[in-house]
Amino acid sequence: MVVPASSLVTDPHEICDLLKLPYEQVAAVHARYPLRVSRYFLELACQYGAPLLKQIVPDILELQDTETPADPLNEENLSPTPCLIHKYPDRAVLLVSRECASYCRFCTRKRKVGTSEMSISPALLDEAIRYISNTPAIVDVLISGGDPLMLSDQQLEHILKRIRSIATVRIIRIGTRMPCMLPARITNALVNTLRKYHPLYINLHFNHPAELSPEACAACTTLADAGIPLGSQTVLLRGVNDSAAVLKELFYRLLAARVKPYYLFQADQSRGTSHFRTSINTGQELMQQLIGHVSGMAIPTYALDTPDGNGKIPLGPNYLHEVEEQCVFTTYTGNRGVYPNTLWPDTADKR
Ligand code: SF4
Repeated sequence: MVVPASSLVTDPHEICDLLKLPYEQVAAVHARYPLRVSRYFLELACQYGAPLLKQIVPDILELQDTETPADPLNEENLSPTPCLIHKYPDRAVLLVSRECASYCRFCTRKRKVGTSEMSISPALLDEAIRYISNTPAIVDVLISGGDPLMLSDQQLEHILKRIRSIATVRIIRIGTRMPCMLPARITNALVNTLRKYHPLYINLHFNHPAELSPEACAACTTLADAGIPLGSQTVLLRGVNDSAAVLKELFYRLLAARVKPYYLFQADQSRGTSHFRTSINTGQELMQQLIGHVSGMAIPTYALDTPDGNGKIPLGPNYLHEVEEQCVFTTYTGNRGVYPNTLWPDTADKR
C-alpha cells in the first residue's frame, strides 16, 4: 500500500475517545463494516461537523439494516471474472484495489470494500484484462475498486500500460475519492505517470462544499494541469447534502476547482446504508431549485442506478407535460409555454 498506515485511523478507540462515542457500538459496526478514515479528512470533519462526520463515523443503524440487498446493482452476477463488472455493452469496470483511504459509510460496495470478501490478485487482474482484450465491444474502461490510487504509481502504471495497449479501448477512466480523502496522494510523480495514458479521464467524488479545502482544490489543480478532464460524482445523502443551498455551493466550488459536476446519484438501496437515503421526490425538488437558477455548467444529471444492474436512468425533474403536435412545458420560473412539434416544410418524416 502506497499510503502510510500512520496517515489512517482504523482503531475504534481513537475515534471514540476523540468524538466521545460509545466504544461497544462503534466496535460492533467496525467488526462487520470496517472503520478507516484518513487523519487529514478526520481533522477536516472535526472542524466542520456532522455532514462530514456522518460520512466516515460508524453508526449502529448500519447493523440494524438487514433486509436491504447487499448487492443492489447485481454486480456479482455481471462479473464475468471477479475483478471486472461488464454491465453495459461498451463499458467495463475494472476493480484493482479493495482498499480506500477512508471507508465511506454509504458505500454501495460496502459488502466487500475493505474486507476479505473482495479478492484482487495479479492472476485475477490478468484474467480481467484478458477479457477486455478479447471483447472488442468494450471501448471505455473505468478503473475502480476500492480506490485505485491506493496502488503505488508503479502498480497503477503497469495496469494503465496494459489497458492502453488494447487497440479497441478508446477511453480510460479512473474513479477515485483521493483528492477529497487524502489530497497529499496527488503528487507530481503520480500525474506524470497518468498523463502518459491520455485520453484519460478522472471521476472524483465530493459530497459537501466543506470537502473542497485548499488542499483538495490544489490536488484538483495538479490533475487538471496534467490535462486530465475532471468530473465529480455526488451521492445525495440525508443529513449531508440534502439541501439546495449546500448543493449549489458544492457545484460552484467544484467548477471553481476545474471539476465538472457530472452525476448527482440517488443513493443506492445497499445494505447498511439505508439511513442515508432520501426520497426521489426530495431529489427532484432539489434539482428544481437549481436548474435555471444556477449556471448550466453547475448542474449534474440527477440519476438512479436502477436495481439488479439494469443501468442508470435520469430522474428529472420533468418539465414537459405533452409532446404531441405541440410540446407543452413549464419553465424554471413556473411559466407554462408551448413549442410547435412540427417540421417545416411539413413532411411525414418526424426526424
Ligand atoms: S471511496 Fe468510493 S469505493 Fe471507497 S468507500 Fe468511499 S464510496 Fe466506497
